[in-house]
Amino acid sequence: RAKTNGRGRAEMFDADLRAELAARAQLEADIQLGLTQDQFELHYQPVMDVATGRLRGYEALIRWRHPERGMVPPDAFLPTAEQSTLICAIGRWTLNHATRQLVAWTEQDPAGHADATMAVNISGRHLATRSLIDEVRQALTDSGLTPKRLILEITETVLMEEPAADAHLRALRQIGVTVSLDDFGTGYTSIGQLQKLQVDTLKIDQSFLHSPDPGTAALVQLMITAAHAFGLDVVAEGVENQEQLDRLAAIGCESAQGYYLGRPAPAPNVTAETGPHAAAPA
Ligand code: C2E
Ligand code: MG
Ligand code: MG
Ligand code: MG
Repeated sequence: RAKTNGRGRAEMFDADLRAELAARAQLEADIQLGLTQDQFELHYQPVMDVATGRLRGYEALIRWRHPERGMVPPDAFLPTAEQSTLICAIGRWTLNHATRQLVAWTEQDPAGHADATMAVNISGRHLATRSLIDEVRQALTDSGLTPKRLILEITETVLMEEPAADAHLRALRQIGVTVSLDDFGTGYTSIGQLQKLQVDTLKIDQSFLHSPDPGTAALVQLMITAAHAFGLDVVAEGVENQEQLDRLAAIGCESAQGYYLGRPAPAPNVTAETGPHAAAPA
């Protein structure tokens, strides 16, 4: 039983902190081992053209097939990886695998994948490193992927919190890579700021599609109108039914992603013509 005086609380706090640090160190070691032992894999979710129902591309989403814990979702290990340079190792791994996968699909099915894109999520800490630019260049060279077919997804908060983000994104866009602002609307970026940011595409966060508030539809409309006025493409995230898709079509949103159009799936099952993403509704 813990003492109630100040010293007792301090000891408890100390024990908690020590346990937390030990758990984090263990998880870091496990991630490191997982990288060397090939325990990570990418699942791919299709991004569809709203008007035609055709495939536009994919987003690569990381999964950890842990020998004891089974399939571990990204939210369970990325926050810890982001506390160290492990997140950069994960980012390099993802860039290399995702670009090669898209080139492989394009070779297997040229008609269905000719202009298809691959979106990769990049953490703030990784974007803050100057070496990301060389790593992206290397992944493009090694895979043979055309730069504009690679989309780097970054979140709004990263643009605000990483002072180097703007310059690094500028350099990446100079290579020809596409930059997408992920989870838009959840941070503090105002619509007016959009025209000054180093981004090509806006991904409207899924919370906007799932909100029961009728005012939200007007907000989505406003975001799309502004994005288009600033020359940005728009992808709506989290489409789960036909009604949401119809609404997006009505307000001129060009691309959409969500369980209704295709769930994230491991690579072998995904091809534009025969895969689980083939039968997406128009
Ligand atoms: P995100 O980039 O916004 O990815 C979209 C998330 O929404 C994915 O979760 C996806 O499975 C989920 N989702 C897609 N469609 C629907 C839908 O219709 N309804 C609902 N409820 N959810 C949907 P996931 O795969 O768990 O990824 C979570 C986050 O983890 C991602 O959010 C991204 O920020 C991060 N992440 C995933 N892979 C990587 C990676 O390789 N590197 C980095 N740095 N971050 C990653
Ligand atoms: Mg994303
Ligand atoms: Mg998102
Ligand atoms: Mg997200």
